[in-house]
Amino acid sequence: MLQLYMPLHFLGFVYREIKNALADMEKMFRLLDENREIQDAAGAPTLAVGNAAVSFQHVSFGYDPERQILFDVSFDIPAGHTVAVVGASGAGKSTLSRLLFRFYDVTAGGIFINGQDLRHVTQQSLRAAIGIVPQDTVLFNDSIFYNIAYGRPDATRDEVIAAARSAHIHDFIGALPQGYDTVVGERGLKLSGGEKQRVAIARAILKDPAILIFDEATSALDSHSERAIQDELRAIARDRTTLIIAHRLSTVVEAEQILVMDQGRVIERGSHRELLAAQGRYAQMWALQQQEQV
Ligand code: ATP
Repeated sequence: MLQLYMPLHFLGFVYREIKNALADMEKMFRLLDENREIQDAAGAPTLAVGNAAVSFQHVSFGYDPERQILFDVSFDIPAGHTVAVVGASGAGKSTLSRLLFRFYDVTAGGIFINGQDLRHVTQQSLRAAIGIVPQDTVLFNDSIFYNIAYGRPDATRDEVIAAARSAHIHDFIGALPQGYDTVVGERGLKLSGGEKQRVAIARAILKDPAILIFDEATSALDSHSERAIQDELRAIARDRTTLIIAHRLSTVVEAEQILVMDQGRVIERGSHRELLAAQGRYAQMWALQQQEQV
């Protein structure tokens, strides 16, 4: 009986491993698929970035031709400055970050970095210039070291550790029995939302991009983690052109410019103080959030 059981048990193991590997491949292809329709223009030059100024000019967009998501959105992020976007769920906030990364092309208007239209430069140079801290970070089934170094694969161990320190995740990693060699992801150590976002912040620090997109996690973190992540964000956003997609108003209070979006349109813009004084939608959202916290 044992003679039969062992090979069957082994086959079961092999089957599970192959299935998991295929699931990973599928995820990878899905990520790539989002991009397949976007092609470089023939002879496109690389994007020239030093200090990057970002400009959305009369941008309209829909994922499907029948359903428009963004309507005539215009705003500028001067080099080294921060713009934050707030608004109800589904207003189109994260769509702005997908367009800046050129996962999709705009249907009207244009997006420019230092005056260069995104459609006229190579995707490789564009993506090298932008670091994203997404809402929900996908971790590879690999070591924490690999997951951070993914931001810049040629990084040395010391550089990875320095990035982890700046993202305040080094001590956490150091306390794990296998340290930076600990395997994380679906089949490894599961990290909390806050820890995953710190890995993404470390990746972005290591990449050292001219432009940073921070898509705040929708799921609520405890207030201690939230404050810590906001401090880390402030540190890496300094002197970098930053777009923050915010789900909590506490994140945007210090932004130089806040855009309030509603159903694909920018309906208000200004600093926190200006928007409160205007007593419009932002002021309502702020009052509501203050009440919720009481
Ligand atoms: P949230 O605060 O909930 O993250 P959001 O303001 O970031 O929302 P978006 O993610 O930009 O909203 O989505 C705007 C609209 O576009 C939504 O109605 C959503 O259903 C739609 N949408 C988003 N992604 C896709 C997609 N890949 N294909 C089709 N429609 C999409």
